[in-house]
Amino acid sequence: MSKTAIITGSSRGIGAAIALRLAEDGFNIALNDLNAGMFENNGIVYKCREFGVEAEIFCADVSVYDECESLVKAVKERFGTIDALINNAGITRDGLMARMPEEQYDSVIAVNQKSVFNMMKHTGNVMLRQKSGRIVNIASVAGLYGNPGQINYSASKAAVIGMTKTAAKELGSRGITCNAVAPGFIQTPMTDKLTDEQKSRMLEQVAMKRYGTVEEVAGVVSFLVSDSASYVTGQTIEISGGLSM
Ligand code: NAD
Repeated sequence: MSKTAIITGSSRGIGAAIALRLAEDGFNIALNDLNAGMFENNGIVYKCREFGVEAEIFCADVSVYDECESLVKAVKERFGTIDALINNAGITRDGLMARMPEEQYDSVIAVNQKSVFNMMKHTGNVMLRQKSGRIVNIASVAGLYGNPGQINYSASKAAVIGMTKTAAKELGSRGITCNAVAPGFIQTPMTDKLTDEQKSRMLEQVAMKRYGTVEEVAGVVSFLVSDSASYVTGQTIEISGGLSM
């Protein structure tokens, strides 16, 4: 029977690349984003189907607990099993801590951190009954090392790394693995917002002296959900071209 993967926030950027890569690997794909209009002009759903798998869009705001419960129920009803969960949805709302309004802090925590609890809880319950499953959380180097202007974002991503270890310990005995990846500077709409000065400052610290691609992140996720990674859990794999060693 075919396997199924849910990828949150997959209408563009890293999430879309992961969806395409897992479709290529043979997974049926449950695409997710805030609304269906976000998929209208990019053909992601059709591109996934070109690999001979099934692909559907499931709209939900993953920061909302009840919407995640409905999302997971709908995917289970449509595909029968949920074999991989990729918690990719994320936002940035950068600003220095001294001037950051409370709402700006809370909104990033809700989307980047609470969503991971929402989705791991509901999908984890399906995986526990199956006695198998793979979870990959998209963290960030900001969660490992901190980054000025990202007190909210780095808090959310550091939390995701801790949550990954807890989930790995709670779910491991039932054959479920949970790992995180921590991308560095990957070229996407999220990083296109940075100024040229911010970009060149980042590259100075990268051993490989170039940005990463979304396909390079998707490749590591593909490994973590594959049979080859069956004894890897609770780990955070940095994908940063050697940002900090
Ligand atoms: P992106 O902004 O291109 O894509 C993020 C997607 O998440 C968007 O499609 C957005 O609509 C969706 N999303 C936002 N809030 C949502 C919600 N509440 N419910 C459902 N979907 C929602 O960003 P990206 O660069 O592709 O980043 C993807 C992930 O990788 C994020 O978690 C980000 O923090 C992480 N990351 C990115 C980089 C990078 O350099 N681009 C580096 C480290 C980590």
